Amino acid sequence: MTCLPFQFTPEQVEFQREVAAYFRDEARPEWYSLDPESEAYRALGREMDRKLIEKGWYNLHWPKEYGGDGDPFRYGILREMSGYFRVPTQGGHGRYIVGPAIMAVGTEEQKKRYLPKLAKGELVMSLGFTEPNAGSDLAALQTKAELDGDHYVVNGSKLYITYGTYANAMFLAARTDLSAPRYKNMSLFLLDMTLPGITSSPLECLNGHVVTEVHFDNVRIPKDCLIGELNRGFYHMALALNYERAGVDRPALYMAHLEDLAEYCRQNGLWERPRVRQLIGALAAQLQAWRMVGWRVVYLQSQGRMPTWEASMSQFYRKEVNPPFGRAILEILGPRALIERGDPESVLYGRSEWYLREGFDNHGQGGRFVTRNVIARRGLDLPK
Ligand SMILES: Cc1cc2nc3c(=O)[nH]c(=O)nc-3n(C[C@H](O)[C@H](O)[C@H](O)COP(=O)(O)OP(=O)(O)OC[C@H]3O[C@@H](n4cnc5c(N)ncnc54)[C@H](O)[C@@H]3O)c2cc1C
Repeated sequence: MTCLPFQFTPEQVEFQREVAAYFRDEARPEWYSLDPESEAYRALGREMDRKLIEKGWYNLHWPKEYGGDGDPFRYGILREMSGYFRVPTQGGHGRYIVGPAIMAVGTEEQKKRYLPKLAKGELVMSLGFTEPNAGSDLAALQTKAELDGDHYVVNGSKLYITYGTYANAMFLAARTDLSAPRYKNMSLFLLDMTLPGITSSPLECLNGHVVTEVHFDNVRIPKDCLIGELNRGFYHMALALNYERAGVDRPALYMAHLEDLAEYCRQNGLWERPRVRQLIGALAAQLQAWRMVGWRVVYLQSQGRMPTWEASMSQFYRKEVNPPFGRAILEILGPRALIERGDPESVLYGRSEWYLREGFDNHGQGGRFVTRNVIARRGLDLPK
């Protein structure tokens, strides 16, 4: 993990060492061998979340007044190392997206009610934005939340909800003004998933990731669960998603696998083949470029700026690197790359097979052409 776009301070280098040493010490084979969708893996996630909470690292990026140290670099280091060591977690939507959004637009009472629970991992959050007919075009969403006395009554459906099989709360986007124009007709809510009228069913994606379809049938949400301004939900949602997109963990996750693959090649005679070294070298260069884009986002955050298209560039790299990464592994390992996790014949914990399927994930966090549009319009100032 070398070659940064800037120099870390000696304190940051020390912190990186401390975090790496801690995760190396904690790591065990099950982190890599278990199916991430299994209950056993989820239990590891709960355990690691608890340990990070005890160490004060779980929500380190939050401002001091909310229990963090507010230093984007330390947060970036922690997140990058979490990716590199593939540290299991119950999910980061609460600490990375919902917590910062509540700090920005929630009421004082909501900050007191929700932030301590998010900081302790007690609220496990899903994001309820996408719908059967509203994905890239979120302004088209149809789920309604209609005011009735002290409650909003929610009806509609959400689709592809990550962590939906076990999250106990949802950050929900719903239409609150049926006659207002697009972008000015929806609001955000923090929804308790145990409320009556909510049903969900799992859907398995090609990459093995299990998402859910969630239906709301006259679900009554207390009025004070509205987060931010009424009918400003679209703008709050865009702001919330920007908090998440530093993305330094993802290239690190890939780099760890590439390093394991290179080591496997050295030990099994494959390293002698120039084509193998060429493929691994080209992937390493792409991953470094992706990593630098991620750190650029962290740097902008440290300057008090809110990266938008810069964060989309990190998404762009993810979508661009995924397919060639899987294809190169297949070329290097041959049919062994297809042997799944758990099979005694598998190599590298059978994870290569996952990277191959991950190459089909064009839509998670937004379609690749939509991401290109954001970069073109906001970053390069190109016309619509
Ligand atoms: C693994 C996974 C996890 C997810 N987790 C969540 C979650 O937790 N919460 C949540 O709310 N959603 C989640 N999603 C949904 C995800 O955000 C949507 O899939 C995504 O926004 C795309 O929407 P769509 O699937 O409806 O595709 P569509 O919007 O129908 O797009 C289909 C294709 O058309 C392209 N396209 C669409 N509009 C344009 C345009 N204007 N210009 C050029 N090309 C365009 C897209 O790039 C895409 O290739 C998840 C999706 C996946 C795959």
